Amino acid sequence: MSALDVPLALLRRYNVQGPRYTSYPTAPMWKEQFGPTDYVSILRESSEGEAPAPLSLYFHLPFCERLCFFCGCTVVITGTRHAGEDVYLDAVEREMDGVAAAVAGDGRRRKVVQLHWGGGTPTYFSPTRLERLGRSIRDRFDVAPDAELGVEIDPRVTTPEHLATLAGLGFNRLSMGVQDFDPRVQEAINRIQPFAATRDLVREFLGPGLLGRLEECLRRAGHRAQARHLAKGPQGLEALALVVESR
Ligand code: SF4
Repeated sequence: MSALDVPLALLRRYNVQGPRYTSYPTAPMWKEQFGPTDYVSILRESSEGEAPAPLSLYFHLPFCERLCFFCGCTVVITGTRHAGEDVYLDAVEREMDGVAAAVAGDGRRRKVVQLHWGGGTPTYFSPTRLERLGRSIRDRFDVAPDAELGVEIDPRVTTPEHLATLAGLGFNRLSMGVQDFDPRVQEAINRIQPFAATRDLVREFLGPGLLGRLEECLRRAGHRAQARHLAKGPQGLEALALVVESR
């Protein structure tokens, strides 16, 4: 089934409200009774057997400068105060030490085939700190050469230096939120993200090749005026919908 050949019945079946699925297990599944020792035993068990599965790692970088009113993520809003970056990375490195030891089993290092940095806004962190995190991960885990490395970026705080750092660390997937280019909507949701900033970032990171798919997604989402401004050319892009509901 191609991306454009989705039966209406299938769309209707899944066009219902469900739990947020950006984390697994989803939030309603977490229980107070499940503690750190349970977590470590599950990690250890996952390394038992002759051929333990490869690893998929997720890193949550929870900081943002400003709250988008629709946000449902675990997020810490700091304004322009970035003092907590190193403290947070210290804690992440300690946790990585524990996880790496638990999944090492009998000393085998399981390959990481997927890695994702989400948030929050990963590019809230300075390029130097992102470099630190990337190196810390590779010091503790074996990342497969063809691993899928994804990162969420926000055009409002992402610089060319961020992009160069992420590319140098091997990131090959980028996720960027675009809720709406209508300035009135942007003001209402407290997320002022001009079209030009989004376009320039896509161009900078992925080159003109991706712009054709961005154009297609924008057109399908009803942003025809912006879509017309983008160059053509095929690459991968995915669009998710924002639903505005009255209270
Ligand atoms: S940038 Fe993302 S994580 Fe941060 S407040 Fe906005 S929606 Fe939430």
